[in-house]
Amino acid sequence: MTTTAQRPQLHYLHDALEEMKANHRYFRLKVLDGEQKPIAVFDGKEVINLSSNNYLGLTTHPKLRRAAIDATRKFGVGSGAVRTIAGTMKAHLELEEQIARFKKVEACVVFQSGFAANAGTVSAILGKEDLVISDELNHASIIDGCRLSRATIKVFKHKDAADCRRVLEETKAWPGKKLLITDGVFSMDGDIANLAELCDLAREYNCIMMVDDAHSSGVLGTRGRGTIDHAGCHGRVDIQVGTLSKAIGSIGGYVCGSRDLIDFLHMRARPFLFSTSHPPSVTATCQAAFELLDSEAGDTLIKKLWANTKFFKRKLKKLGFDTGKSETPITPIMVGDGARAFQFSKDLFAEGVFAGALGFPTVPEGKARLRTIVTAVHKRADLERAAEIIAKVGKNLGVI
Ligand code: PMP
Repeated sequence: MTTTAQRPQLHYLHDALEEMKANHRYFRLKVLDGEQKPIAVFDGKEVINLSSNNYLGLTTHPKLRRAAIDATRKFGVGSGAVRTIAGTMKAHLELEEQIARFKKVEACVVFQSGFAANAGTVSAILGKEDLVISDELNHASIIDGCRLSRATIKVFKHKDAADCRRVLEETKAWPGKKLLITDGVFSMDGDIANLAELCDLAREYNCIMMVDDAHSSGVLGTRGRGTIDHAGCHGRVDIQVGTLSKAIGSIGGYVCGSRDLIDFLHMRARPFLFSTSHPPSVTATCQAAFELLDSEAGDTLIKKLWANTKFFKRKLKKLGFDTGKSETPITPIMVGDGARAFQFSKDLFAEGVFAGALGFPTVPEGKARLRTIVTAVHKRADLERAAEIIAKVGKNLGVI
């Protein structure tokens, strides 16, 4: 028998949940029954899945699956320790060298997640005497890293280089270190940072330049090398973060940069020091994924991803939807009102399309939306059908 539910100490959580329910900010977790695929079963219902970050369909790729199984057979299911004690396996280092080569940088360190990579890095390299200049739509893991560092945080308007310059001018005489930080691709809008302009500003105002490439690695640039490659900014970004949990199909995050940066993170990044490293299966999966990415087969998948992206975006626009400023496979369908966005998502699910709704506080008030993400492995017929259903439900709700 459990008694925790009856104790009064946490009753305030119940009240908070009731308030979320009243304000349409409460959600239940949808349960995937089976594999993460373009057609998948969630909560017992088969739907066209437009909600995963599985950009290249690698979550179920046979080569990656085989790599995970082989590594488990050979090396077991866990690393058994944090990296700095007994948990650094040979494969961890091999993967890091492979990612560094892929990203054309000196060195790399892998973290347990992209979130840990961002939060662990920013909090390690800055202190309270320092300054962060951050795009207003940067990911939560960057924001948390900045807060943990206790540095002063100044925000510039989304993708607005002029506003970024204003902040840099105002803080020109800042005595501590300065970090200019941006997402490469923004996760809620699917637009791409103006990286070249920001790199110019970082040079002009002597800032450390950092980019979170979670949604662009495996998506943008030559063979998926990310926004830095896409924008021709190799050598101009000091710290590149990526995730192994989206296009790479598994779990984890990584930081790329100079040997000194990586050695320093080994000594100071708290998730690296105080949390156990990946099991061999994860590392082997990621090694297989990067090998695939840097091959003809990977190139073909990226081309399919972009062909599907263009097809689906064009279709939604033609139907009259506002897809915001998206330039990538993340395509929002702008709705505005939060309650209506959640209703839209619910009705779509009932009709066989899974596209999640995002409302405040994930996106600004009044900018609620659905977020759709196509992958390389969606079939054209699935996307056609999804668009038809979205149009039907969208008309019913007066979105178009
Ligand atoms: N950065 C961005 C921009 C993201 O969208 C995410 C994932 N939501 C992360 C970092 C964190 O990555 P991970 O899921 O690997 O922790």
